[in-house]
Amino acid sequence: MDERGPLDVGAEEGARLLTAAVDLVVRHAREVADGPVAPAWPGTAQLRDWLAGQDFEAAGEPERTLPEVMAALRRWGVHTTHPRYFGLFNPTPTWWGVVGELLAAAVNPQLAAYSHAPAAVEVERHVLRFMAGRLGLPAGTVGSFTVGGAEANLTAVIIALTRMFPSYADAGTYGLPRRPALYASAESHLAWLKIAHMTGIGRDAVRLVPVDAAHRMDTGRLRELREADLAAGFAPFMLAATAGTTAGGALDPLPELAALAREWGMHFHVDAAWAGAVALSDTLRPLLKGVEQSDSVTVDAHKWMSAPMGAGMLLTPHAEALAESFRATTSYMPAETDDAPDPYATSVQWSRRFAGLKVFLALAIAGRPAYAAQIERDVRLGELLARRLEEEGWRRVNDTPLPVVCVAAPEAEADGPERSAAWHAAVAGDVVGGGQAWVSTVSLAGRPAIRLCVTSHRTRAEDIETVVRALGDARKRNHRAGP
Ligand SMILES: *Cc1c(COP(=O)(O)O)cnc(C)c1O
Repeated sequence: MDERGPLDVGAEEGARLLTAAVDLVVRHAREVADGPVAPAWPGTAQLRDWLAGQDFEAAGEPERTLPEVMAALRRWGVHTTHPRYFGLFNPTPTWWGVVGELLAAAVNPQLAAYSHAPAAVEVERHVLRFMAGRLGLPAGTVGSFTVGGAEANLTAVIIALTRMFPSYADAGTYGLPRRPALYASAESHLAWLKIAHMTGIGRDAVRLVPVDAAHRMDTGRLRELREADLAAGFAPFMLAATAGTTAGGALDPLPELAALAREWGMHFHVDAAWAGAVALSDTLRPLLKGVEQSDSVTVDAHKWMSAPMGAGMLLTPHAEALAESFRATTSYMPAETDDAPDPYATSVQWSRRFAGLKVFLALAIAGRPAYAAQIERDVRLGELLARRLEEEGWRRVNDTPLPVVCVAAPEAEADGPERSAAWHAAVAGDVVGGGQAWVSTVSLAGRPAIRLCVTSHRTRAEDIETVVRALGDARKRNHRAGP
C-alpha cells in the first residue's frame, strides 16, 4: 500500500479548498450586512429536502458542496455577525479569532497531556494568567479554557464541592453530612440548575435569591434564605454572584457578597461570562470590583471578547482544589511534566482542542488597548441606544452601565403583564421579521420588555438609528391606544 490513502488528497487539494473557503467567508463578511439579520421563516422542510439528497454514498464536488452549505447557513440562520444583531451575547468574531480557529484545526495539537503540546498549553496558560492579572486575582491563579460559560460554571461547582466537602471526591453526594445549598440570583444564568443536576446535588439545591429594584442579588433576602437553610439542616456551600446578568446586565454587589461568603465560609464564585471583558479596559474595570476576592471566576471569550465559539475561561486561585477536583491517572497517558500539570487532570475535558489560540492571536495582534477601546465604544453605543429609545417614548426597565438596553412601551404596560408580554413579543417579532435588526424579549422581575444588546464590533451609530426606527415602526403597526 504505497499509494496514498483514499482520504489523503494531498496539500494541493488542501490549498484549493482553503482558497475556496476563504472566498466564501470573505464574501459573507462583505455581504451579510446587506441582507436580513434573520430568516423570515425557519425553512425546516426545505432544509430537510436539501439534506435528503445527501446520502454520502458518492464522492461530492467541493465546488458544489461548499457553496451549497454556505448558502444554507446564510439563508437559514440568525446572523450573529450582522452589525444589527442586537441579541444574546453571540459576537461577530474577529478575523484574528477566525484565523486562530483555522490554525488550531490544521495543526490539531492535543492539549490533554502537557508533554504532547507544551507550546499550546503554555499559550493557553499565558492568556489565562493575563486575564487573571486583569481581574486582579492573586499570582498563582490557575484555570482552563472551556467550551463556554456553562462548562466554566460547572467546573466552579465541582471545585467548590471538592473544597467544601472533603468526602465529595470519593463518596460523592452520598458522603455529604448535610444537603448542600448553592445561592445565585433570580436573574442569574439558569445553567446553575443543569449543573446542580449534573453534579448530583440536585436542582433543589439551587436557591434563586430575589433581586432588588436594579435586578441585583438582594443581600437581605440572601441572609434570610441562608438562615432558613441552616435551620432546616442544609449546608450552604457556594455563593455564585453574577457580574452582568444575561437578561438585563445587572452587576451583583461583589464586594458585599465576597465579604459575606468569607464570613460564612462559602465558596465565592463570580459568573462574569459576558461582562468579564470589561477587565480589559482601565476605565471600566472598576465595575468588577470585588472579583479579585473570588474563589473562582467565569469569563467567556466567545462573548464580549469576540472570539468565535466556543471559548470560555475558568480561573481559580485554588490550584490544589482544581487538581483534586479532576485528578486522574492512566497507564496510557504520557507522564506528567514536573512543574506543569496535565490539562486532562485539571479540567472537565480529556481530549482538548486548542481553544485558547484564537484568544491569544486576537490579543497579540490587536493588542489589549484596541480591545479596551472597542468595549468602551460599545458602552457608548449602548448609552446612545438607551437615550434614543427614551427620546422615542420607550421606558427603560433595566439599570446597568453595560450596553444592554431593555425597554417597554408605556401604552402596552398599562394592559397588565400578560397582554404586555404578548404585545412586546409581537413588536420584537415584527422587527425581526422585517429583517432590519434582531432583538429579543425578556421578562425582568416579571416585567415584559424588549431587549437589545450591542454585541457586534461592526455596530455603528447608524445601526442604532436603524433599530430605533424599526422599533418605532413596529410599535405603530401594533398600535395600542395607551393609558
Ligand atoms: C452566556 C452565559 C453563561 C453560559 O455561557 P455559555 O458560553 O453559553 O455556556 C453563563 N452565565 C452568564 C452570565 C452568561 O451570560
